This record gives sequence, C-alpha cells and structure tokens, in this order.
Amino acid sequence: MANYYSPTHLVNPTVIPQQPQDLIQEWSLRNLTLATTTMADTIKFLVKQKLLGNSSMCDTCNRLRMIHQDPAKTDTIIWECPNCQYRSKKSICEGSIFSESQLSLVQLLTFMYCWAEEYPLFQCNKESSGMAEHT
Ligand SMILES: [Zn+2]
Repeated sequence: MANYYSPTHLVNPTVIPQQPQDLIQEWSLRNLTLATTTMADTIKFLVKQKLLGNSSMCDTCNRLRMIHQDPAKTDTIIWECPNCQYRSKKSICEGSIFSESQLSLVQLLTFMYCWAEEYPLFQCNKESSGMAEHT
C-alpha cells in the first residue's frame, strides 16, 4: 500500500497535528482543491483534519485492521482484519460524518467548506459537484 503510511495506518501518526488546522481561517478553496486532487491525498487530508480515523481496531480480536484496496475499485479502500475468520471489514468512513453521504469524500468536504464560508447554496452545489470524478 505505497500510497499510505503503513499497512495499519493511513498517515504517519507523528504528522497529525494535535489541533487540526482551521479549514476556514487557514485554507482557501484553491489550496483545498490542490490538497485533494487524488483519493489518497483526500484521505490523508481528512485524517490530518481528524475527520477520518487513522486506524481501525477489530472489535472481535482487538487487533488493528489493515488497509485493504479493492482491486476492482482502485479509489476505494476499506479496513479489513487479517486475523478473523470472516475478515471483519469496515468502511474507512464508518463512524465519521462521511458515512451516510452519497457524495464522494472530496465533494462533501468541498460542500462543507463552501457552506462554512457562507457561499450561496447554488454556489456550494456548483463548487462541490463540479469535482465529482477522480481517476
Ligand atoms: Zn479481527
């Protein structure tokens, strides 16, 4: 999993700030866009902002799950326990604000940013839906 820090951690824990940067005060929409051009970059950004967990503990055997990439969907990663009989799987979004969303991570993040910046709703939609496809 070359894109990520280790088999069990998305980001090097030592580079995650104690206090996430303030999205509104410290980020412009352009900087945010540049920081989230690929799915891997977006996930790293969200982990550093503490919007996604950096690791996942298996409820059954109390071991860290491993990052698992679905070969059919290269932009989709999940947590998978290598230990359990049924390889307990979990979305990396489970338990986060992203878990119930139909939008992609970057779409929802962009929407949140525009909403917090008090852009008009049509502009929030425009800015977030125009960035739908990532290859
Ligand atoms: Zn397990």
